[in-house]
Amino acid sequence: MKKDTPAIVIWAVFEAVAILLWQMKDNLFYLLNFSYIGCSLGLGVFLFMRGHRHARRTVQLLVGLYMLVYLGLICNENMQIEGFWYYLFTGVFEAATIHYAVAKIFGPLIFGRGWCGYACWTAMVLDLLPYKVPQAPRRKLGFVRYIVFALSLLFVAGLFLMRVGGLERIMFRSFLVGNLLYYAVGIILAFRFKDNRAFCKYICPITVFLKPMSYFSAIRVKCSKDKCVSCGMCEKVCPMNVEVTNNSRKRLNGTECILCMECVKACPKQALS
Ligand code: SF4
Ligand code: SF4
Ligand code: SF4
Repeated sequence: MKKDTPAIVIWAVFEAVAILLWQMKDNLFYLLNFSYIGCSLGLGVFLFMRGHRHARRTVQLLVGLYMLVYLGLICNENMQIEGFWYYLFTGVFEAATIHYAVAKIFGPLIFGRGWCGYACWTAMVLDLLPYKVPQAPRRKLGFVRYIVFALSLLFVAGLFLMRVGGLERIMFRSFLVGNLLYYAVGIILAFRFKDNRAFCKYICPITVFLKPMSYFSAIRVKCSKDKCVSCGMCEKVCPMNVEVTNNSRKRLNGTECILCMECVKACPKQALS
């Protein structure tokens, strides 16, 4: 039962959010949406606690496919960053804005970059590529994310300023084009830099929100110094080049941790938790 507590807690938190939003917005969608995500995450934690090898990938596929196919393609919700700007400018606090608030802006104060490890539909595909652990040193290209972030904002602001009509249709098309572009760039970079997560490290504009918020994350991997024998295994398997054994919030690439737990699994001394 103790083993199942984390899964139950995660499921219960999402169920509480689901019921709260359902009642506040008087919309059954929120009940179904957050219940589904809570069940998927709860299942992932349940499997992880039992040492299932594919626990994280299971959640990533369940949530990522749901978001991409159901919310994006079927319900026409643009969950890309330009969709967030669009709904923000129109003053609509609905699916996309709530999604950003929960998963990418305020949620990371609790679960850090959990979104990136367990739910993102871009990484869902990139994680299938061969370079699960980076095979080359990190590059100084992180500035590109700010350019992409600014361009997405300018794109949507421009549409509003020029009073372009048919914005819903444009947003749906930009969702399709944006996703295809992200996948293409992500795959090319993964092979070019021999790193599945190169797109996350250098290009993704969402990290402009994710990185500063996850700096304060309540959930983070910590190292018990009395158990650690400095074998370096944890850093060798980390897909995000995090300086895992340093417990400081300022540790190298600390705001990139996606909570994949590969380091925890690899540690021969169970020094990480
Ligand atoms: S950094 Fe961006 S692309 Fe990568 S997992 Fe996070 S949200 Fe997805
Ligand atoms: S291996 Fe560890 S430090 Fe690296 S991203 Fe995964 S959980 Fe974070
Ligand atoms: S794998 Fe474990 S023992 Fe080895 S350096 Fe990392 S925390 Fe220390």
